Amino acid sequence: MLKIFNTLTKMKEKFFFSYKKIINIYVCGVTTYDFCHIGHARTFLIFDMLIRYLQNIGYVTNYVRNITDIDDKIINRAINNNESVKNFSLRMISEMKKDFFSLGLLEPNYEPKVTESITDIISIIKKLINNKYAYIEKNGDVLFSIKNCSKYGKLSRRLINIHDKKNTDFKKNNVFIKDFVLWKNFLLKKQTDKKDSVFWDSPWGLGRPGWHIECSAIHQRYCLDGVDIHGGGIDLLFPHHENELAQSCCINSDFPIHFWMHTGMVILNNKKVSKSLNNFITIRSLLLKYHPEVIRYYFLSTHYRHPLYYNENNLIISQKILNRIYTVISDNYLILLTDVLDFKDKKIRNNFKKKFYNAMNDDFNTPKVCSLLYDLSRYINMIYKNNRILARALVSDLIYFGNILGLLKTNPEKFLFQNPSIYSKKMNFINKLIKLRMYYRDIKKWELADKIRNKLLNLGVKIQDTKNNSIYRFL
Ligand SMILES: [Zn+2]
Repeated sequence: MLKIFNTLTKMKEKFFFSYKKIINIYVCGVTTYDFCHIGHARTFLIFDMLIRYLQNIGYVTNYVRNITDIDDKIINRAINNNESVKNFSLRMISEMKKDFFSLGLLEPNYEPKVTESITDIISIIKKLINNKYAYIEKNGDVLFSIKNCSKYGKLSRRLINIHDKKNTDFKKNNVFIKDFVLWKNFLLKKQTDKKDSVFWDSPWGLGRPGWHIECSAIHQRYCLDGVDIHGGGIDLLFPHHENELAQSCCINSDFPIHFWMHTGMVILNNKKVSKSLNNFITIRSLLLKYHPEVIRYYFLSTHYRHPLYYNENNLIISQKILNRIYTVISDNYLILLTDVLDFKDKKIRNNFKKKFYNAMNDDFNTPKVCSLLYDLSRYINMIYKNNRILARALVSDLIYFGNILGLLKTNPEKFLFQNPSIYSKKMNFINKLIKLRMYYRDIKKWELADKIRNKLLNLGVKIQDTKNNSIYRFL
């Protein structure tokens, strides 16, 4: 049975839902003010793997991810770019979608923008004010009142002492210093003189929502019977998720959020990867050098809760491992499985299957699974000369396990060809043929060049000649 580490209870808990239920997964999305970086890649690849796995074990999922398309950073960037906030934000959303598509991420079932959720946000802030969980400050902002929420601190356990009456540290100028903004009043802020500021009308005047309230509004709208898995990077645990949970409990005490899952940080040059710290590598720059499956394998090789110390050498190692696995597939996968396995072979096959599901059910132990894929490919390599029947069956298992993680989905020849650092023998051969054909063309031996073109076609490589060059693609 699947067990997931729940940040709320600090324990691995059984994933107890009925298969009849649709599993609601809410993951905090991107603030679209710059290109997405490797920190985003890790978080969203992890939840992508989780969704693929839940679907594999029989669940139907409802994946919701918000887009924070309004925020001070977005406004400031747009102003610096001399671009309207709306245009800038839409442009960055489209860049984000390009990166996520290139990484092979599943699209969420719902991906609402904050600017599309203002009516819901206003209505839940009203509810919070009516129930005394929020108040209007002198400057016109609406703040959430932490002292009135008995469950505040439950998730991160950081501010648990604020409910201790002897503790007065949190109080400053009669305002609870940790009270956070639900609605920022526009007219009283610095932004008044900026042409491009974005605001909406509300019962509290013109303004715009604070950051945390959007997630409560969006998950209550799109996850009707509660959030079963709430995800995000560990840096969001406090204050964002703590505040989100407080808001949601106070809006509707019956609205459950069952599992809180947090991915570890990506550390680059001994610092957290973060756009605000200007310490990041963009996804697109990584994709220029590595196949998306290499990036995926690399991120899945570290457990999702652990910090990941970014090291390019490990990406190169991931590439080598995938090259090796794909070479094994390439050598075996074209042969159809028609033979019947004997008892001993079935046992070996079941053993690998057991190892795969045991590791995945143990809080998504993908590092173990990544090693298993490699070991399985080595095992196939070892036995395929003596037991081709089992080798073919295991190759289909290898692809099946890989696919559950979003790996091994590429045509093996194509994959190996795109990773020119370590060619398989076959790829070397194709490469030599291409060079030879170019040589014959240069010396105008057209017949020989055409013969090689046909040979390459038989190998699934199509050549197209341009004015000065030849380009090729796999069929
Ligand atoms: Zn959020």
